[in-house]
Amino acid sequence: MASSCPECGANVGVGNKPMAGEIVQCPDCGTELEVKNLQPLELAVAPAEEEDWGE
Ligand SMILES: [Zn+2]
Repeated sequence: MASSCPECGANVGVGNKPMAGEIVQCPDCGTELEVKNLQPLELAVAPAEEEDWGE
């Protein structure tokens, strides 16, 4: 299955059995995308998790 990246519109594959909440990375712009919906398949930019920003 595949959907389009909300950032750049590139085709982003999510495998045969995507799961809601799964994080995939856009091969074009590198944005991390979360599977928001399965029917229809919908991707949204993943929220920034508690990452170490190094500040
Ligand atoms: Zn993209």
